[in-house]
Amino acid sequence: MSATEGSKAQTCPIFMYHNIAQAPNDLRRWRSLYVSPGAFTRQMWLLKRMGYMGLSMTNAMPYLRGEKLGRIAVITLDDGYADNLESALPVLQRYGFTATCYVVSGSIGRYNNWDADKLGIRKPLMTPEQLRAWHDGGMEIGAHTRSHPHLTQCSDAQLRDEIAGSKADLEDHLGVLVTQFCYPYGDMDDRVADVTRSTGYDAATTTQRGRAAAGMDLWRLPRVQIARHHMLPQFAMRAFTHYENRRA
Ligand SMILES: [Zn+2]
Repeated sequence: MSATEGSKAQTCPIFMYHNIAQAPNDLRRWRSLYVSPGAFTRQMWLLKRMGYMGLSMTNAMPYLRGEKLGRIAVITLDDGYADNLESALPVLQRYGFTATCYVVSGSIGRYNNWDADKLGIRKPLMTPEQLRAWHDGGMEIGAHTRSHPHLTQCSDAQLRDEIAGSKADLEDHLGVLVTQFCYPYGDMDDRVADVTRSTGYDAATTTQRGRAAAGMDLWRLPRVQIARHHMLPQFAMRAFTHYENRRA
């Protein structure tokens, strides 16, 4: 096998979802952040059908580190919306998949206060009980800061508070180990990545487009966004081909 074939075999998509719900009819902008429960179910079905395992970030680490080879797709959901528990969890369980939900630790049980005004909608976030149900259902909880700031604009002290503080909050309040991180808005630089690494996370994801490959910088992992308007063939292109790398 050539080096090219080898590296191709070891790439995988890290899917980025937000809401698994029908987009409200009165929502004019940002409807793309919603994937309907039906579409999500068809996407997971297709992965299974094609012989792929849907994995949480932690379950995918051996593949991302190049220690293991296999047909995998990583499933991540940002912000910690209550609809993830209601509509994504049963589907993930049906197919034997795991997924990582990145939670904003300062907004547990509240709503998306960082973009509710811009979006014109308050979306409920999981309560501590719901986060426990997500975790007890076999899914992973990752950290997504305390207040969803633009991290590159934070002082060093704020950075530590947001990145280490959210890990401590989630571990203390939920009694779970938190080793995965996601940069809000994908906003990060070397300084932000250094703090994330030294805080003790195993990896962190961005919003940069592309497939992840074994041997990549684990604190700058690109993702593949799945949006409301993606029909199944468009999902398949993003899941199974190098389409996203060409678009990156
Ligand atoms: Zn977010």
